[in-house]
Amino acid sequence: MTKQRVLVTGGAGFIAGYVIRELLDRGCRVRATVRARKPAIDGVEFVQADLLDDAGWTAAAEGVDYVLHVASPVRPGPVENEDDLIVPARRGTLRVLRAARDAGVRRVVLTSAFHAAGFGHPPTDHVFTERDWSVLDGPGMDAYGRSKVFAERAAWEFDRGAMELTTLLPVAVLGPALGSEVSGGNHIVQRLLTGRMPGIPDIFLPIVDVRDVADAHVRAMVTPGVDGERFLIANGPAIPLKDIAATLRTGLGEAASRIPTALLPPVEGLGHQKQISNEKARRVLGWNPRATSETILAAGRSLAPTG
Ligand code: NAP
Repeated sequence: MTKQRVLVTGGAGFIAGYVIRELLDRGCRVRATVRARKPAIDGVEFVQADLLDDAGWTAAAEGVDYVLHVASPVRPGPVENEDDLIVPARRGTLRVLRAARDAGVRRVVLTSAFHAAGFGHPPTDHVFTERDWSVLDGPGMDAYGRSKVFAERAAWEFDRGAMELTTLLPVAVLGPALGSEVSGGNHIVQRLLTGRMPGIPDIFLPIVDVRDVADAHVRAMVTPGVDGERFLIANGPAIPLKDIAATLRTGLGEAASRIPTALLPPVEGLGHQKQISNEKARRVLGWNPRATSETILAAGRSLAPTG
């Protein structure tokens, strides 16, 4: 894989930051798109491109073997204007795919989300797999989920010619924060640690480590025979938030002293333990995620309030 040329979109983001480091460690040549903020990573060629604008994408994809399309607005929960999420997610994906196809890119790996598969379903004991799609107006579904469904569907419907396409659907991503930014599932760990929650909602959260998500991206990029395949990227079934809190309390001692102990009622759509299969990623990609306690503690240590 040495000297493969890879474009990563959204290079200043949490997951992309780990993906870029993983690619550099494996000897790839990395170009990454950014909007305004540029991360401090050596050895990367940063180029400017916005998902809402055609400018920059043709040049970004030129001379590249693989594209890892990670960029998308991440804002779960209620939003004022759904199009703020849906338009960049869907049209941006099409811009990236068009530029990649026209540049002769071999394969695109698209970062979709479990939000595109396992949301909007009534509580069920069904084990979610890659065959599932979220229900657009079902219980617990939000604009972010719809943006991920629309983007992934648009990608599958896009006329990609000989270019290969693989999608990854991570659950809530936790792990050591990069700098001061708090992203994705780390928000919930931060809210627990700072005592900003009056109690612990009786909810279940499926989690995965950001380092394992980065590893899955590289595996999806290089594993032969995965054109047209989706992969759920989850450590296992959803786990109770109170167990995450207990892991932090045991592992972090004093730094976890503000975590509340009272249990609150569940939040709509999250009060049921979703069963999620990672069998396909393990079998086809040879993916082997680490223990959840390691992920929770690494996130906690990086976010623990000081003083
Ligand atoms: P993040 O840190 O917020 O990264 C998102 C990236 O998307 C940022 O770099 C952001 O650019 C970029 N972006 C947003 N709107 C853009 C636009 N209009 N044009 C260009 N770039 C734009 O979030 P993340 O957690 O790393 O998420 C990365 C991907 O993983 C997303 O596709 C997300 O849906 C998916 N995912 C995340 C989770 C999770 O729990 N974190 C779970 C499943 C899937 P700026 O740096 O300029 O803001």
